[in-house]
Amino acid sequence: MADIRTQVAVLGGGPGGYSAAFRAADLGKQVVLIERYAALGGVCLNVGCIPSKALLHVARVIREAEEVSEAGISFAKPTIDLAKLRDWKDGVVAKLTGGLAALARQRKVQVVQGVAQFGSPTSLIVKSSTDETTVAFEQCIVAAGSRVAAIPGLPDDPRILDSTTALALEDVPPRLLVIGGGIIGLEMATVYAALGSRVTIVEMTEALIPGCDADLVRPLQKRITAQYEAIHLATKVTTVEAQPGGLLVSLEGKGAPAPALYDRVLVAVGRRPNGDRIMADKAGVSVDRRGAIAVDAQLRTNVPHIYAIGDLTAGPMLAHKASHQGKVAAEVIAGEKAAFDTRAIPSVAYTDPEIAWMGLTETEAKSKGIEYQKGSFPWAASGRALSMGRGEGLTKVLFDKQSRRLLGAGIVGPNAGELIAETVHALEMGADMQDLALTIHPHPTLSETVGFAAEIAEGVITDLYVPKRG
Ligand code: NAD
Repeated sequence: MADIRTQVAVLGGGPGGYSAAFRAADLGKQVVLIERYAALGGVCLNVGCIPSKALLHVARVIREAEEVSEAGISFAKPTIDLAKLRDWKDGVVAKLTGGLAALARQRKVQVVQGVAQFGSPTSLIVKSSTDETTVAFEQCIVAAGSRVAAIPGLPDDPRILDSTTALALEDVPPRLLVIGGGIIGLEMATVYAALGSRVTIVEMTEALIPGCDADLVRPLQKRITAQYEAIHLATKVTTVEAQPGGLLVSLEGKGAPAPALYDRVLVAVGRRPNGDRIMADKAGVSVDRRGAIAVDAQLRTNVPHIYAIGDLTAGPMLAHKASHQGKVAAEVIAGEKAAFDTRAIPSVAYTDPEIAWMGLTETEAKSKGIEYQKGSFPWAASGRALSMGRGEGLTKVLFDKQSRRLLGAGIVGPNAGELIAETVHALEMGADMQDLALTIHPHPTLSETVGFAAEIAEGVITDLYVPKRG
């Protein structure tokens, strides 16, 4: 391909990169978007958020069909056509990635396929399997994302999966060991357990989903303890030996069992930023030892005409953070007064039950000595949750003791990921306890639990009896 000159080059076509490219184009900039794979969408669309949610939807249907027997409705055990399930999931992904290609064409964003690295402070060299193109730019947005972190010393064996190969759904192993009790490990465990695998989880720390409040994790842990073969906390994998009949895994830690054979092992121990893979030094961009790039509120790196967004930057590695940053970087480039200035980035584990939280957590408040007032509403008192057979959920809201403004919220239960959005909006708007408590929520919905939790904090709840304090 002939060499290209452009006003804005965007390195990486994930949610951060394509949002940046499209916003910059909409603001009148000439944009080249460089992506190493044939399809746009990055990890999120191709091998992350979207295929996992398609499979998690199926897992939920399977579980609901099982559990509705308590209401007198019994279905036969499902027959699983794995090839059809894979095709369906791939179809969902293809619809979205195809949509992105169309959106790029409509905006006249030129998409260049290949692996990009900096050649100088004003150029990227893009290598594909067939040719090499130089993209000269005035401004650049680096959105190169992250990759799965590996555990050193594991054998090179196709039966050891990462999130990408686990989502490929080659088969349903009879016995699956998941290393890492974080979000990916627990989401994939949800899928494979519903499809019929006997699942064991090994988590290095004392708790599943480290960083998430214990009261939110508890209902999930209780449910999966009953469903899975074992959950080992404060436990590490010492060796994995490839044997013809399976992977022999030795564990070390509190209550670690004797070495055992597993058909597959999924490694889900985090991700690391790709800043070390783009020859940033050729552009003079500083990258830290982990591969992350420091940016200011306008997302500028230490080189003022080069920006970085998404998993490469500090903070959670989440698609919605990346896309938000992408738009900010594009607006700054277009001369708008924009900044990445959010009060909360919500986190969601799409497990069953889902766990969602945003803003201040109780764990953080306690460790930093921040005083707060809490309203915590048990879903056992929610008509809607009980009518779904899911009274184990919980909604809690944390408020500043003086100003009574919302500081944070956490929800566990089906659809927690949807429900958390109201609290993020409330936090961004500076809402206080009364604002949430006086908002009329539709009845009977799970969304009411947010209002009820605020009513508890406010001392005006009627759906529960809470004895008066002091
Ligand atoms: P994570 O950091 O969320 O969890 C990794 C877990 O592995 C942690 O609990 C950690 O203590 C544990 N661990 C680390 N080394 C270990 C070892 N040797 N043995 C046992 N346990 C070990 O990482 P992840 O689940 O791999 O996810 C990667 C990133 O992708 C995260 O930033 C996550 O936020 C993001 N992600 C988000 C979603 C979502 O928003 N729903 C879904 C998937 C991934």
